[in-house]
Amino acid sequence: MKPVRTRFAPSPTGYLHIGGARTALFSWAFARRHGGTFVLRIEDTDVARSTPEAVQAIIDGMQWLGLEHDEGPFYQMQRMDRYKEVIQEMLANGSAYYCYTTREELDALRAEQEAKKEKPRYDGRWRPEAGKTLPTPPADVPPVIRFKNPKDGVVAWDDQVKGHIEIANGELDDLIIARADGTPTYNFCVCVDDWDMGITHVIRGDDHVNNTPRQINILAALGAEVPQYAHLSMILGDDGAKLSKRHGAVSVMQYDEDGFLTEAVINYLARLGWSHGDDEVFSREQFVEWFDLDHITASAAQFNTEKLLWLNQHYMKLLPAAELAAKVQSRLAARGVDTSAGPDLEKAVVLYVDRCNTLNVLADAVEVFYKPVTPSPELLAQHLTDEIKPALADFATGIAGVAWEIPAISALIKETIAKHGLKMPKLAMPLRALLVGQTQTPSVDAVIELVGRERALANLQKYL
Ligand code: GLU
Repeated sequence: MKPVRTRFAPSPTGYLHIGGARTALFSWAFARRHGGTFVLRIEDTDVARSTPEAVQAIIDGMQWLGLEHDEGPFYQMQRMDRYKEVIQEMLANGSAYYCYTTREELDALRAEQEAKKEKPRYDGRWRPEAGKTLPTPPADVPPVIRFKNPKDGVVAWDDQVKGHIEIANGELDDLIIARADGTPTYNFCVCVDDWDMGITHVIRGDDHVNNTPRQINILAALGAEVPQYAHLSMILGDDGAKLSKRHGAVSVMQYDEDGFLTEAVINYLARLGWSHGDDEVFSREQFVEWFDLDHITASAAQFNTEKLLWLNQHYMKLLPAAELAAKVQSRLAARGVDTSAGPDLEKAVVLYVDRCNTLNVLADAVEVFYKPVTPSPELLAQHLTDEIKPALADFATGIAGVAWEIPAISALIKETIAKHGLKMPKLAMPLRALLVGQTQTPSVDAVIELVGRERALANLQKYL
């Protein structure tokens, strides 16, 4: 087998969305799996919609995902001379020709075809054929250049995802490959690029299936080896509708902002339309080792936010405490929360990670340890009853002298409730409310230990 060369070829008209990220991931993984080369190509010929910000967003997104390219980025706008050169060669060897049909003539042609219930298509009036006399080119019409598509036979390929696809050449008219102003058109540029870049496997979204027969014909006319194609089915949202902005976080960087880990997103994307037996949780390295085109599903993949959250929590739990704390710390710092004066953040994240599925949720949860605690009036009214105050006062006295470790604090709580004839929640709830301002927390003894003796005392005494 020839060395594998894949490419990711985004059009920089917006951020890197989930569908694009999956295409990039699969192309990258296939190259890595086979010790090949992964090329990044920016398809920026739509100048009205392409922006440098979008290029940057794509590069940032790929970097965040850890999808390093080996070659590029190549920009199509910087390859215009090359496309024009190839067009000249095609004109010279007869695989392309000038077409002087005006817009008005094309409109008239279309109206005629529609009236006859025919598929609108260019009728080949300027197409050179043996024995055919072409009209005299009008002086005032700048011509477009068309590809001389084969007239007969079929164009076929074995799509690595969708199986055998073929279409009669008679269905394809002669594609414009250069506009009247000389600029080459999209499908043509893709062909020249895939050829020049030696791409062996084109892995892309199935919105390009319709372009493939045209591209194969052009590649064949260029004398280029036709790559393998693998067209990935679309991704549906949680609700089964085509994934779109209204499904929320569709930009890859939005996942970063929302507190997802790269590992989780990669693992998640890998399973969006590809499988390895029943494996749901696997590392990037395993994915590269296992990835193949045979196990990409031909049907649409459905997004499942719950599963992504579950994976994210799984990877959060796997992180060494120091790393998890560092990630949470930077999120807290961005909110203006200073963690230096409070309890050990590593301990806090370890205590809370079991109940948090994103870094943001974890930051929300532990933030209370680094900010003044102000229990809401409702919380106070509900839990700080006169009946409980003597027990709280006893507990406060107790913590002034207790050994500062979870078992000792736990023993003190038990002692206090026994002495006052209370059930555990009667004391635990007000303690939570006063010490962290919320009643949903991990085990109360661990929370108190984390709060620290001085701060715990100060917070309790404020209300006694
Ligand atoms: N630029 C195209 C897109 O963003 C991809 C073209 C291709 O992969 O061939 O949809």
